[in-house]
Amino acid sequence: MSEIMKGNRVQGKLRAPKKHEGVRVCIEKSCTTRLSSYNKRDHCYAHAPTRFPRLRGRVAPES
Ligand SMILES: [Zn+2]
Repeated sequence: MSEIMKGNRVQGKLRAPKKHEGVRVCIEKSCTTRLSSYNKRDHCYAHAPTRFPRLRGRVAPES
């Protein structure tokens, strides 16, 4: 696993995403969440190792 993909955005023409054979599910054994073919991760959103900063509820006031 690597995080080299960080900030690596595909620009310009988007290639047709490769469709994986069969259906992929979360790598967690107890999890049967289907993974989108566009999702390159092995985990579902609930088990994704990536930590999303929780900034909700902290909205910068306008004005
Ligand atoms: Zn999962």
